[in-house]
Amino acid sequence: RLHSHPRCRISTRHGIGTRAMTGSLVLVATPIGNLGDLTLRATETLSKVDVIACEDTRRTGNLLRHIGAKDFRYVVVNEHTEYDATNQIVDALNNGDDVALVSDAGTPGISDPGSLLVQAVIEAGHQVVPIPGASAAISTLSVGGLDTRRFFFEGFLPRDGKERTDRLAFLKSVPVTTVVYEAPHRIVQTLNELQQNLGGERRVVLARELTKIHEEIWRGSISDAIEHISNAEPIGEYVILIESAPPRPAVTEDLIDSALKSALVDGRSVKDAANDVADMFQLPKRDLYERALRLRGQL
Ligand code: SAM
Repeated sequence: RLHSHPRCRISTRHGIGTRAMTGSLVLVATPIGNLGDLTLRATETLSKVDVIACEDTRRTGNLLRHIGAKDFRYVVVNEHTEYDATNQIVDALNNGDDVALVSDAGTPGISDPGSLLVQAVIEAGHQVVPIPGASAAISTLSVGGLDTRRFFFEGFLPRDGKERTDRLAFLKSVPVTTVVYEAPHRIVQTLNELQQNLGGERRVVLARELTKIHEEIWRGSISDAIEHISNAEPIGEYVILIESAPPRPAVTEDLIDSALKSALVDGRSVKDAANDVADMFQLPKRDLYERALRLRGQL
């Protein structure tokens, strides 16, 4: 059984611990392209567990055949089945079976199914054990050349509507490197929208086909990225890294006054000038109204 992890209590099925029989859920990272990236622990685990929970039996079947694993039971876990699959998996763990969760590529639970299952398994009192490995986000961060002391993981942006507009507006001021996942047929639209919201000068890294033959890691401004992409073959999934938002200039009294004066000189009413400048510096409107009124008297 899976004794490789010191906290792994799979031995409880032999009577140690509080339960007579209990299994573990093992989250196994799989390659994001190159099969050589499957770790030794992943291979060992996938060959030994009783149940394989996966998104797609055909894809995972190919991987399992590649490592010579056989005699596995599958449970399909995807966005449509995660609820039912979770119940089946908790039952299997209660019966003492060990279950491995894999996704089509990379680390399960990262922009892939898994978090609901993990929560349920923890609540049911079973161990959840990681077998770490490839993740497109971490691979790109590590080679991107942007600041990685802190980063923000956005994953896939909402497809459309207000939800998407709100996220794009939010990304404008994220003060650390941001990671976005994107499919090839949407990359041009997403870069155009990033340009509209963040400006063309912001630096990005585009990583596609990581660990595969046509691996490409491109670095430059958003506007150059749009030009680069329009000349590129539309193949491969992308990771986009976005440089952190530039630090906001300190908002001084003088800065507020000069913004209010210029709005008033441009013919804005006291109320409109106060609202514009309040939005600009994210300050309370009422405070700025008093100030704009005073300044208009001085003009
Ligand atoms: N769980 C995976 C992980 O750990 O990275 C992510 C799965 S998510 C459904 C798929 C997205 O990951 C793709 O749309 C792409 O943004 C990114 N991705 C996966 N494999 C990639 C690769 N080989 N090169 C670049 N991006 C990749």
